[in-house]
Amino acid sequence: MSPAVAAGAGLYLHIPFCSAVCPYCDFAVLPTAAASSRRYVRALIGELAMLAEEELAFDTIYFGGGTPSALAAADLEAVLKAARGRLASAEDAWLAMEVNPEDVSPAALDGWRELGVSMLSLGVQSFQEEELRFLGRRHSPAEGERAVREALEAGFDVVSADLIFGLPGQEPGRLLDSIRKLVELDPQHISCYQLTVHEGTPFHRRRLQGRLLELGESRQGELYELVHTELSSAGYSAYEVSNFAKTKAGRSRHNQKYWDHTPYLGAGLAAHSFSGRRRWWNEPGFEEYCGRVEGGERPLAGSEELSDAELALEAVMLGLRRSAGLDLERLRTVYGVNLLERNAALIERYVEDGVAVADGRLRLTSRGFAVADAVARSLDLGLD
Ligand code: SF4
Repeated sequence: MSPAVAAGAGLYLHIPFCSAVCPYCDFAVLPTAAASSRRYVRALIGELAMLAEEELAFDTIYFGGGTPSALAAADLEAVLKAARGRLASAEDAWLAMEVNPEDVSPAALDGWRELGVSMLSLGVQSFQEEELRFLGRRHSPAEGERAVREALEAGFDVVSADLIFGLPGQEPGRLLDSIRKLVELDPQHISCYQLTVHEGTPFHRRRLQGRLLELGESRQGELYELVHTELSSAGYSAYEVSNFAKTKAGRSRHNQKYWDHTPYLGAGLAAHSFSGRRRWWNEPGFEEYCGRVEGGERPLAGSEELSDAELALEAVMLGLRRSAGLDLERLRTVYGVNLLERNAALIERYVEDGVAVADGRLRLTSRGFAVADAVARSLDLGLD
């Protein structure tokens, strides 16, 4: 069902546990329980063993979730051993891991360092007590600050911190406080995501009941601009719409694969894989996932073959979200799309309006980043 993934692929390992589920979260997560985490670790190792039949070679590994830091370092090590030992991976694969601030302690940091983690990504989200409570987070602003400080002192190559903006009623001053506090701590990498209300989440239900009022578009735009201006003046460059790094070495090597269509393999609950042409994904239900692996079966739930038109559209959408922009020559040679020729007048207008730069590649300015998806959709690719 799943074709072999080429060399230089990424490996994503999903750890679905969280001590409580945040009301805005639409990831495949479940509350942490010792018995189920033991069963899950066994199943994940079992799935990795089954993947050995494929010829895979990856050079980045990403522990995401959920909360990978909800598992003991020994469990993470066992998973990593299975991944490294059974797949044709580079021994020195670049390793990233998502962590919640409340799980950070000197002992935990030592454990993650010993695992070989290069990038530690902390779910800080805000330094405002009230905002953290609203988001259902379990840490305080002081714990967020301590976690970033201690992670930096522990000497990881890259420490990253996430912030969420666009909360109902959020004043620019509040967001500015959080950004400035984070910039003062000086992590190598920052991700800033706009709050999205996903269907099926408690926030979505509250919105339907009229108990959650989302920010208007103009305030969202104001906050978005504030994020970009403030981080850029602090020396963080936006290498992707939501991701900022001080240097090239500070960027996420793994996530860049999602954005440039490099193949990746996902293992674990609901994990997705991509071969460059085909996508496939795992069972999203805990019982189904574990049960199928325990029965000696791959836990696949579905797959799809992408057409040239779908791949080209994705390449445009993903390319325009990156500072490197869209490789027009590649688009022409791989998908037969001559974007400049088909959209000459429109692109000229985007350039005149300061939304885009066309210099062999098509790149959006920081103003253009704010409307990246709309720009991508406005372009005619001439494919059905
Ligand atoms: S900690 Fe992250 S993964 Fe877990 S429930 Fe909250 S948002 Fe979702």
